[in-house]
Amino acid sequence: IITYYYIAKRQKNKPFFERKIKIMLFLPSDTEYIIETLQKNGYEAFAVGGCVRDMLNGDTPHDFDITTSAEPETVMSLFEKTVPTGIKHGTVTVIINGVPNEVTTYRTDGEYRDHRRPDSVIFVKSLREDLARRDFTVNAMAYNQKDGLKDFFGGREDIENRILRAVGEPGRRFYEDALRIMRLFRFSSVLGFDIEENTLKAALEYAPTLKSVSAERIYSELLKTLCGKNPAALKPLTDIGGLGFLGVNTSPDYGILPFLGSADTKLFAFLYSGGAKISPALDFLKVPNKTKRSAQDMLTLLNMPFPKTKPEIKEMLYLTSPSSAENYFDYRSAYGKDCAAARDMLTEIIKNGEPYRISDLKIGGRDLKKCGISGRVIGETLEKLRRSVLKNPELNTRSELIKAVKNGL
Ligand code: ATP
Ligand code: MG
Repeated sequence: IITYYYIAKRQKNKPFFERKIKIMLFLPSDTEYIIETLQKNGYEAFAVGGCVRDMLNGDTPHDFDITTSAEPETVMSLFEKTVPTGIKHGTVTVIINGVPNEVTTYRTDGEYRDHRRPDSVIFVKSLREDLARRDFTVNAMAYNQKDGLKDFFGGREDIENRILRAVGEPGRRFYEDALRIMRLFRFSSVLGFDIEENTLKAALEYAPTLKSVSAERIYSELLKTLCGKNPAALKPLTDIGGLGFLGVNTSPDYGILPFLGSADTKLFAFLYSGGAKISPALDFLKVPNKTKRSAQDMLTLLNMPFPKTKPEIKEMLYLTSPSSAENYFDYRSAYGKDCAAARDMLTEIIKNGEPYRISDLKIGGRDLKKCGISGRVIGETLEKLRRSVLKNPELNTRSELIKAVKNGL
């Protein structure tokens, strides 16, 4: 919620468009309270980073980080409930009405030796220095009600022009912290912003240092990038083999990603069409088991002939799951296959609760024992029954199944 108000009095004689505008942004009351408390005690404090970017861009921020000249111990002494979350890096969580707020002391980063984290951080007194350590101009702005917008690096103009630009010398910034390379492409995809030429050049130049970023961080940035509005933002990186360590050696089919419903399917499509071996790539990224299963299901389904009948669809469901079948149809449709009839059949099977698993059968092993069947034959018989109800769901009643067993199927 942005309002612009004009400092009209002092600028009365200037033409309208030359008047300096003061930007007013809306901050949540808890954020205001923390900022004002710090100010009352003689410190500077601002909302900073992603929240300022999002508000200026017309998006709703998901959290409001605060930056302050007060040192962590001071912050902890000024509020009733605090947690020293990342006190070494200057971050204290201030809890107001049960809601956590991150408050970080102005700091610059010490030396970087591993392309990832600074060896140390140094608390500083100037907001400008704190903003200078931040990655992109659009992320390097601060705001409070009293002082308005603090924008030393042209972030506001870059938001207006929808451009991502490194703060300072791009090569140095990516060399210091390779995660910024992934963040760059992520923001480009999520915000739909272009990347400034020198920033892009430097990000690609330092792509080999991505190896030093933890798999978890790569995974989380990659997933956000693939789920953003413009996943093809990543193309310059994959064009130069920048994600070769994942086995993605050619640029994937970015165009299909927006048509895929689930994040798991987007990741699968990205890796698969980029030429990666799925299993090692997912192991490398340490993805959750659910994601692994979903990818395995996709491979299983891609290896089956496309289903034309209900029993064929039920067999797909049996081998995988309804959600995997849906993901598979999304995937095939994205590549132009007409899946309408198959989808209709899938919907009907689910709606009618048509049986396709052994557990759906109206009889079980115990019933078969009563019919005099034992040992391995029990399993074999159940599987035969499953196959027969797959074709004829109406046979799935106790009496029909027992009759079938007694008649030797
Ligand atoms: P979002 O929360 O929407 O993902 P964000 O910009 O708030 O985006 P955070 O990871 O929450 O990102 O970081 C908060 C701020 O800290 C950023 O806006 C940026 O100013 C700074 N920052 C975060 N990570 C880095 C980094 N690796 N290098 C430099 N500055 C960073
Ligand atoms: Mg954030």
